Amino acid sequence: MTDTLDIKIEKVDNTRLSVTDFSQLPFGKVFTDHMFTADFENGEWKNLQILPYGPIPMSPAISALHYGQAIFEGLKAYRQPDGKISVFRADKNFERFNKSAARMSMPTIPEEIFMQGLAALISIDEKWVPSQDDYALYVRPVMFATDPYLGVKASDTYKFALLTTPTGPYYSNALKVKIETEFTRADEGGVGFAKTAGNYARSLYPFEQAKKEGFDQLIWTDSVNHEFIEEAGTANLIFVINGKLVTPSVRSTVLDGVTRDTIIKLATADGIEVEERRVSVKEVIEGIENGSLTEAFAAGTAATVTHIGEIGYLGKNYKLTDPSTRKISNGIAKKLNNIRYGLATDEFGWNWIL
Ligand SMILES: *Cc1c(COP(=O)(O)O)cnc(C)c1O
Repeated sequence: MTDTLDIKIEKVDNTRLSVTDFSQLPFGKVFTDHMFTADFENGEWKNLQILPYGPIPMSPAISALHYGQAIFEGLKAYRQPDGKISVFRADKNFERFNKSAARMSMPTIPEEIFMQGLAALISIDEKWVPSQDDYALYVRPVMFATDPYLGVKASDTYKFALLTTPTGPYYSNALKVKIETEFTRADEGGVGFAKTAGNYARSLYPFEQAKKEGFDQLIWTDSVNHEFIEEAGTANLIFVINGKLVTPSVRSTVLDGVTRDTIIKLATADGIEVEERRVSVKEVIEGIENGSLTEAFAAGTAATVTHIGEIGYLGKNYKLTDPSTRKISNGIAKKLNNIRYGLATDEFGWNWIL
């Protein structure tokens, strides 16, 4: 990292900590006292500041609202046994943020602004990082186009912000998911690999349809023939087939998840064979039927490892194994959490201790 940047700091008069109930933390609704922002103008990032969390004044004509030039990230900070705070694999989120930016014709953000902004914000709101088991501070970096101009063109000005929100344990039963064969999330040549707003907007309607049919989540398939499994839309998918970890390879239509990458590295180090390749719907359904597919889970920052209990495909439901019997995914989830919370050796150097 380079020189220490000049970040203007304006603190709140009164913290909201004492009026925040840490036993009631719906995901993404409770924000810490402060936020970090920076502005891109005349070809450079400026106005680095930490200020009270709150509304940002803006023109109703900003291009982010009309044409969707907006990207985001999601990462977490964890309280360590010695009271220090560790941010997990922030370098990966930084890299992916700039990949998303490049695809959306947005300026990249310099590493020192991303990292120093993150460290400064978390330090100021240090008391907001929960200490209870399975809690964490979720960090949401976001960048959006701010030109007040209705023409369709890449904006000249942008705002970058870091928001932080404490989150509780993500207790979730095994998911009932539907393999989607009508709608698509992403297509070749599109923006599926970018964490950009429109990818989520287009998924809402199909998701609501699936909810009405009694499903918790969708499994997206390729946009050409709906023949191959892609991902879950906010999480990547990993299967255990014949004792091997099998996961759809990342491509232009599949987001390159940090959790997925982390699990691949942990499994490989544990001597579990990993296959990153195209995974067909047929293989998954047949695997459930003949018993060779023993585990299936979604992997993402928010939920870590979420078991899949049942898969719906073309109107038929297929039940998977009892999640409590799944040795490989439960073992990896435990190991991953132990590293994040500083309870196991961080062999890979993933923890950034602030
Ligand atoms: C964020 C996200 C994931 C999971 O990525 P992580 O880096 O593991 O949190 C997977 N798919 C999509 C579409 C996502 O937006």
